[in-house]
Amino acid sequence: MSSATDFIWKTFQQTSNADRNNVPKVSLSIDSNNGIHVSANYIQKYTGNVKTEITGVMIHEMTHVWQWNGNGQTPRGLIEGIADFVRLKAGYAPGHWVKPRKGDRWDQGCDVAAHFLDYCEGLKSGFVAELNKKMRTGYSGNYFVELLGKTVDQLWSDYKAKYNGHYFVELLGKTVGQLCSDYKTKYSTN
Ligand SMILES: [Zn+2]
Repeated sequence: MSSATDFIWKTFQQTSNADRNNVPKVSLSIDSNNGIHVSANYIQKYTGNVKTEITGVMIHEMTHVWQWNGNGQTPRGLIEGIADFVRLKAGYAPGHWVKPRKGDRWDQGCDVAAHFLDYCEGLKSGFVAELNKKMRTGYSGNYFVELLGKTVDQLWSDYKAKYNGHYFVELLGKTVGQLCSDYKTKYSTN
């Protein structure tokens, strides 16, 4: 748990106790309701690599211990998205997650939001850490504009456009723009 904590502090750029949530002790239990709760039933039914899954779940839950929640104002989808973003960055994204670029709304689920936040992080390194720092005292949708110059809806449609366009490159080796000009070239001669 301490290595998970170190990773989370690093991801959130929380270098001193003053930057961190004041949590003296985290209890881990498999069957009580205090602290991090992992369902024994879930573990038993899990068909993938249990150790990897448990580590991933731990990182997700430990992130909830350390992240800020905007004094309770941050939307649930974003809270979960950040927890799974940290899990993704730690290298513990499980196979059952949706692939990047899937999803209809950026905050519809943990893994969708995690990949979207990863895209935002690609636009500005340290974005998630900055967003988390802002959420220490409250929450505003405007934080996305302050950090990246665009609303979350604009960012989401950019993200979707970027990766939808990417399918053409994957399948045909060319961007939509290239294919379009190839097409025009072909038919303009007839
Ligand atoms: Zn969670």
